[in-house]
Amino acid sequence: MARRHPWIYDAAVARLDGRARPGDTVTVLSDGGKVLGKAAWSPESKIRARMWSFDPDAVIDHAFFKRAVAASVARRQAHPALAGQDGVRLIHGESDGLPGVVVDRFGPVVVMQLTSAGADKWREAIVAALVQATGCEAVYERSDSDVRGREGLEPVTGCVHGELPAALTIVEHGIRMEVDVVGGHKTGFYLDQRDNRRMTRELSAGRRVLNCFCYTGGFSLQALAGGAESVLSIDSSAPALATGARNLALNPTLDAARATWREADVFTALRELRDAGERFDLIILDPPKFAPSAAHAERAARAYKDINLLGFRLLNPGGLLMTYSCSGGIGVELFHKIVAGAAADAGVDGRILHRLSAAPDHPVGLSVPEGEYLKGLCCQVG
Ligand code: SAH
Repeated sequence: MARRHPWIYDAAVARLDGRARPGDTVTVLSDGGKVLGKAAWSPESKIRARMWSFDPDAVIDHAFFKRAVAASVARRQAHPALAGQDGVRLIHGESDGLPGVVVDRFGPVVVMQLTSAGADKWREAIVAALVQATGCEAVYERSDSDVRGREGLEPVTGCVHGELPAALTIVEHGIRMEVDVVGGHKTGFYLDQRDNRRMTRELSAGRRVLNCFCYTGGFSLQALAGGAESVLSIDSSAPALATGARNLALNPTLDAARATWREADVFTALRELRDAGERFDLIILDPPKFAPSAAHAERAARAYKDINLLGFRLLNPGGLLMTYSCSGGIGVELFHKIVAGAAADAGVDGRILHRLSAAPDHPVGLSVPEGEYLKGLCCQVG
């Protein structure tokens, strides 16, 4: 609290005076009775309250959300790398001062995900503020994340403003990509990897590329645009791969003959590639969250070690491994240790060329270090 962290755990709450329903605004007082600010009450969650404001006099009302949403949107518009983007995260929860609120814009459509009781309660105010700040055609709600369960909230999805266009695409670094805001993962597209996709493009010329956990082919298409000799893309989701193939067709300047899409489990596919004696010059490992929280860290660490070890073994000398973890439960240092251990066990000498993270529309609040969920390394071997 003193450090302006926005979460108050159940154990830190001595008592609640009066009554509060889920999502109600409560005034937070210190042990000594000093007013610390205003928070949203989450009676079902271990995180019992989330701070809306550290201003003791703050009033949490429609005007508060209007200001907070407009400020977050304006920060993106003021950033030269974000201002011209079709796809951009407009609100990144705690790190933008709006706990439980995630909002992505894809062209004319805004996708909103509310994950806390407080955010859920203020849905209408947030939607009105988004429409006003962005002038968007439609707001689509994708509040179907598992974490809502921990707040005692049911999944909510659907259009809450306007109408969705028949087809939605964005252009990222010159490549057109389909975005399925209704059926896609999360809000439809992984915007956090935008900068790392550009780096992949810059490093791909003449290389044999293997893109593991490719989803709809974001990295694959950038690799092709960067002049990759071939790109093998693997994912276990047939619909994601089908979208990837459609995305390739949307970009006729790319050489489709260089691309192969394979529906497979990556853990199995990497072993098969190894047994077949295949080798690559650039391997991307961007798996799903193996460790949603610290409690899953040990099992997740084994899974990361496994794929990274296999990845290192499949590289030609001079090859690059671009490896990621988006697990909140695995910190940067632990991730580095796992990757270093994988290289050692694979018997390769390697070095880190780049430390990678999420794009700047996914900021990390200085008081919210757990906001740094995405970490990556670009390692070279040989
Ligand atoms: N790199 C992607 C995002 C990856 S999200 C991008 O830039 O857009 C993680 C992906 O891993 C999802 O598409 C999911 O379908 C896939 N996945 C999850 N477990 C898998 C497994 N065991 N084998 C193959 N793919 C898997």
